[in-house]
Amino acid sequence: MNVACPVCNSTLSRLYPVHDLLLGGLGVWDFGRCAACGHGALTPAPSGAELAAFYGSLYTPENLASMRAIDRSGFERLLRRRRARAVVRALGDRPPTRIVDVGAGLGGWAADLHARWPSAEVIGVELSEVAANDAAARPGVTIVKRPFDACGIEPGSAQLVSMNHYLEHDPDPAAAVARAADLLAPGGVLVVELPWIGGFARSLFGRWYWGHLPPQHLHLPSKESLSRLLRGAGLEPGPATTTGYPFQAVVALVLAIRFTAGTRSRYANNWLVRGPAVVGGLLLLPVALAFDVLVAPFLGLAGWGDVLLQVAHKPGAPR
Ligand SMILES: [Zn+2]
Repeated sequence: MNVACPVCNSTLSRLYPVHDLLLGGLGVWDFGRCAACGHGALTPAPSGAELAAFYGSLYTPENLASMRAIDRSGFERLLRRRRARAVVRALGDRPPTRIVDVGAGLGGWAADLHARWPSAEVIGVELSEVAANDAAARPGVTIVKRPFDACGIEPGSAQLVSMNHYLEHDPDPAAAVARAADLLAPGGVLVVELPWIGGFARSLFGRWYWGHLPPQHLHLPSKESLSRLLRGAGLEPGPATTTGYPFQAVVALVLAIRFTAGTRSRYANNWLVRGPAVVGGLLLLPVALAFDVLVAPFLGLAGWGDVLLQVAHKPGAPR
């Protein structure tokens, strides 16, 4: 059975099943893609109870150390530098007085924004208790520990709203973008960063693209569906750039073997299948590594990376 695309209302056709690759063994979901606007989504969407259980087991005090390691990683810092450049270009010579970061996580990006504009009020919206408590300890960052649709921030008051790796987690991205647009003052800037369905990793590796990450990634927008979401909220999409995650091919190879013939497959105890699969994987490993090191970085620079950074403006003259 096909269902309606959540962005353009055309048909979302089922492509393939996607596994929980992060915590392992939690389940399998169907991933669908819209033939008209290219938007990707889990179909049917996981229930609220399923999501609450998943996030409850992900954002725990025990996982805080690994969350901090990701927050401080070199790749995360690279994304933040590129994002900062895009934001500065979009704002021009107008320093913001209020900034809202939706889905602030551990607050690393919010802290960067405070360091750049020390006189601006930087508000991070973060629902996870564990992440929000960590982020609230950052100097110059105010954390609102509520869902975005109940954040209570005054409409029209922010010059910059950012949604980094947030929108793909929200069950209703159209409503979230509309809310972000509502918070912006005229001339304000929205910056959205998310895993891009059109990037090389999803395009080449399909269901073994680790960025599927069900059930937390509910939506994987295309450039067109993201533009539709932004325009639908009255915003004007500006320039978009991409970056490629490192070691995508190696990760896809490991996942493909693990889930088809390895420990997560029905052949977990059958060495007649697992043995040749492991040998095949080892033979392909140098090829995957060569792709990741020699080819992938250039695909990101050429606009085919799988992290999409999109800037949009709210019409009107800045006050
Ligand atoms: Zn669509």
